[in-house]
Amino acid sequence: DLETPVGILVVGSGAVGKSSLVKRFTTLSNTLGAYRKTVGVEFAERTVATPYGDARLQLWDTAGQEDFDALARQYYAGAHAVALCCSVTDRGSLRALPAWRAKVLATCPDLAVAVVLNKVDYLVAAEQDAAKVRPGEVAALAKEWNLPLFQVSVKSGQNVDAVFMHLATEAMRR
Ligand code: GDP
Ligand code: MG
Repeated sequence: DLETPVGILVVGSGAVGKSSLVKRFTTLSNTLGAYRKTVGVEFAERTVATPYGDARLQLWDTAGQEDFDALARQYYAGAHAVALCCSVTDRGSLRALPAWRAKVLATCPDLAVAVVLNKVDYLVAAEQDAAKVRPGEVAALAKEWNLPLFQVSVKSGQNVDAVFMHLATEAMRR
């Protein structure tokens, strides 16, 4: 219900699009901002309807380069769901996913989790040079973890809502 907010962490390497994802979902704005490094943890809300009732989502947008410090630990402890994010244009962000998953699940093992591959707009022919991660690679990892994969473009809006609707529904169902 609306009394208990659903905490959703958005984590992953720097510049994969975490802040852009949160902004597009919570403000419905379709303009992509310039890259501005997130400092600490930023916070935004949106209420959505799920089959299990309305959910007031609190999205926690963390800095990708953060250490697992006391502040982050506090946020992690109150979370119900997490989006593990990587980007088509950054192989390092794919390599970093297992560590992000381990870090989050160490603190809160009962989270609903989704894997997000962002910037899939780069997979079109004209942008092939910038595409460094194939969706199949991320799909294999997600399958190994038994987690859903969302292929997202914050730029086009593709699957932005789907990620958070899935996590909200899972969190409300549990
Ligand atoms: P964060 O460090 O993970 O929070 O990343 P940001 O949200 O700050 O985004 C980093 C850069 O990627 C910014 O320049 C965004 O405009 C850009 N960006 C984010 N999402 C997309 C996307 O889906 N497609 C494209 N082409 N660029 C994106
Ligand atoms: Mg950011």
